[in-house]
Amino acid sequence: MQSQIPKELLQLMKTQKYHMIGQHSAVKRCRWLYNTLIHNQPCYKQKFYGIKTHQCIQMTPTAFNCTMRCLFCWRAQSGDRGMKWKETALPACDEPEDIVEGCIKAQMRLLSGYKANVKADKEKYREALTPRHAAISLAGEPTLYPRLGELIKSFHKRGFTTFLVSNGTIPEALSKLSEEPSQLYISTCAPNKKIFYETCRPQIPNAWERLNETLALLPSFKCPTVMRITLVRHLNLKHPEFYGKLVEKAHPTYVEPKAYMHVGFSRLRLTYANTPLHKEIQDFAVSLAEETSYKVLDESRSSRVVLLSRLEKPIKLG
Ligand code: SF4
Ligand code: SF4
Repeated sequence: MQSQIPKELLQLMKTQKYHMIGQHSAVKRCRWLYNTLIHNQPCYKQKFYGIKTHQCIQMTPTAFNCTMRCLFCWRAQSGDRGMKWKETALPACDEPEDIVEGCIKAQMRLLSGYKANVKADKEKYREALTPRHAAISLAGEPTLYPRLGELIKSFHKRGFTTFLVSNGTIPEALSKLSEEPSQLYISTCAPNKKIFYETCRPQIPNAWERLNETLALLPSFKCPTVMRITLVRHLNLKHPEFYGKLVEKAHPTYVEPKAYMHVGFSRLRLTYANTPLHKEIQDFAVSLAEETSYKVLDESRSSRVVLLSRLEKPIKLG
């Protein structure tokens, strides 16, 4: 199968307001950027960790590539709408500095739309013109980009904090990172191997074992770590006792159970009935707390997410 990206996909991503950077990276406006500038409603990561929503760039160095094909994923996957490409091989390897420069320019372009908006908070808009945080999380598996450590370093050199979200299937890339992110997320979206294969549909061998290897690595990181559990009703929203075992093995700084949202290309694979209510996430979090040494610290109803930790309160990074 070709690693070259189909033209229809590039066109589609443009329509969906992805700003492509170089050959494999992208920036997209997070909906919370709009919410904070217009309605003074920042995202839950501002509430939990102090990251300023209006100064955050949502980006990825791997817009088209991933080792998995999660049912709940909002990105286009090979096979969707008849488009096919090799998802596990990056089409090229752009310079980290160029990617960071491109991200900042793209963020300026997407912010320009708020300049004349009378509803936009003027002070926040002014601050937004100096972005300070990169969420390396938009789509795809960032550890497929071989120069990820340098990319993180390039952001840090410019005074950014970084949140890296990985699916944990390439432990060797995470263990070799030349620069740790400010906070590392590992998506752990199944309580056992059977549900993992049903939910995450890995495209590489031994993905469950590889994820478990990554979980065992987490205590070796100096930065705060997060086990992110995206929960889908009727699919992986079950067996908190097995999730609890994974939590106790990885000892992440935080656990974030969060509801699946029926958006993007996931609508081709799941229905609205798969979207859990916040109450279901709260109940799951309470069960997880009973199974582990973690306790519920905070929550965001609008994002349907709960924060658990063994800390008394989360570390503020912003
Ligand atoms: S941290 Fe995530 S949710 Fe918050 S503004 Fe950035 S990309 Fe959006
Ligand atoms: S690991 Fe992330 S990017 Fe990859 S398919 Fe799953 S949700 Fe999508």
